[in-house]
Amino acid sequence: MSEGKNYVLITPGHELVLDTLIMYGVTDELFRTYAWVDGNITLQGERFAIHITNIRPSDVPLPEEIKEMKDSHIFCGKRTGSGKTARLEISPTRGKFERVGPKWQQKQYKICDLCESIAKKGEAYIGKREVIVKSREKKNTLDEYWVLSPVEIQIPLILSIKGLKIFECLRTLKKVNFPHMLSFLTFLSVLPSPLPGNSWLFSIYRKKRRLESAYIGSRADNIHRFVWTVRREYPQFSRLIKALVELAEEGNLDPLIKLTDVAMTPSLSLAYIAIRKLRSALEDTYPSELREFNRLGKALMKWCQV
Ligand SMILES: [Zn+2]
Repeated sequence: MSEGKNYVLITPGHELVLDTLIMYGVTDELFRTYAWVDGNITLQGERFAIHITNIRPSDVPLPEEIKEMKDSHIFCGKRTGSGKTARLEISPTRGKFERVGPKWQQKQYKICDLCESIAKKGEAYIGKREVIVKSREKKNTLDEYWVLSPVEIQIPLILSIKGLKIFECLRTLKKVNFPHMLSFLTFLSVLPSPLPGNSWLFSIYRKKRRLESAYIGSRADNIHRFVWTVRREYPQFSRLIKALVELAEEGNLDPLIKLTDVAMTPSLSLAYIAIRKLRSALEDTYPSELREFNRLGKALMKWCQV
């Protein structure tokens, strides 16, 4: 191949969420074009650097869109007022908001056709669920978006994110409006396998009048480790969590909150509180979940003694 086999592609700097979509879109297009793609992806500020080190068959040229992005697209992310309003699910967030310092303000989000087209391909890697929010007499629904932004990851592992079927796992969370960390614990608990990659940022977006976003970076590390420590000792953990989600749907959020407390702060006294809470909550409605309960107890003890 005339261009050689190593490529570096920097995403255009549209801010983290949209650049994440573009990064997924680029890798997805590579997976569609080649039988084998190797290399790694690192997050640098709010852009991704995609290092492609080996593609096979090597005589197949880069797809046109990828080539275009690689050659001339590094500064596209600057808002210039030209281009068109993004019609992506989140780009960020319906193409209507822009982050100004810590705040978001309404503004048409203009991007070019190329960025929109590639980002659309990345939508298969994000999750969305509908959440019910009750306030006094009113009941509203809003959309919650889950975007995994890897800090560093090998390109082939990106495929396993698609394989996680984030969308389906989110359905287990039902339509309950969980606090962020609790939502995160539940989500990780029902995933079929651990998330790939070294470190992760988790973004949650909500829309309808008010917009919130959360980048759960280092705060999530403990929860991540907690879930995989407990699941190793207590394989029924996913089922237990599903039962707890059903309790939450009926209005009893407390057992999940207590469990999240232990995950965030490994402490024996918090573990005892959680176990007591779980036992009494499950006794009436989910007695079968108590059968192997001592294993959960052991798992929590182990977590607290790490
Ligand atoms: Zn662009």
